[in-house]
Amino acid sequence: MFQFIKGDLSNKDGALMMQGERFILVPVGFISYLQKGIENIAGPDGTYVMMTEAAQMSGRDVSQTVLALAQGLPFEQQVQLFLRMNSAIGWGKYEVEELTMEPFKLVVKHINSYVGDVYEGKADGPRCFLSVGTKDLYESLLKAAGRDIKLKVTETLCVAKGDKHCQLTFEEDAL
Ligand SMILES: [Zn+2]
Repeated sequence: MFQFIKGDLSNKDGALMMQGERFILVPVGFISYLQKGIENIAGPDGTYVMMTEAAQMSGRDVSQTVLALAQGLPFEQQVQLFLRMNSAIGWGKYEVEELTMEPFKLVVKHINSYVGDVYEGKADGPRCFLSVGTKDLYESLLKAAGRDIKLKVTETLCVAKGDKHCQLTFEEDAL
């Protein structure tokens, strides 16, 4: 996968491009301390709203790229492609622990989250708000597959609160 990503990177006038998406390589602390800094001002709930919103808006764009790459593939392989892209650019390692389509449920194990170092296992709850925000991407993939549903996300395990790894559950939201 890394070769695939590497072979596909281009840098034009300082804009790093991969599959039509622009990426900026930053130290992980840039993102984790940004989130921690926001939390110091806005508290966990305010930070949740801001970080998930940013991830959701970005996810809507990325889903189009994933769809273009994974056109015609079964849903699970589209998910795997997205997770492999994330791993290739350093967001950690992912494992699909459960995937059912009817009703929809996706459980993803996540190793090496970006929040690991900054919270040191002492947070009072999960903190992978950027991961939570990927729900829009999954909704977009589902919509393209003919399932126009809303998802709710629960981060059941998180290194920020002392768990060994993170675990996110995306489920069909009954509303
Ligand atoms: Zn986490």
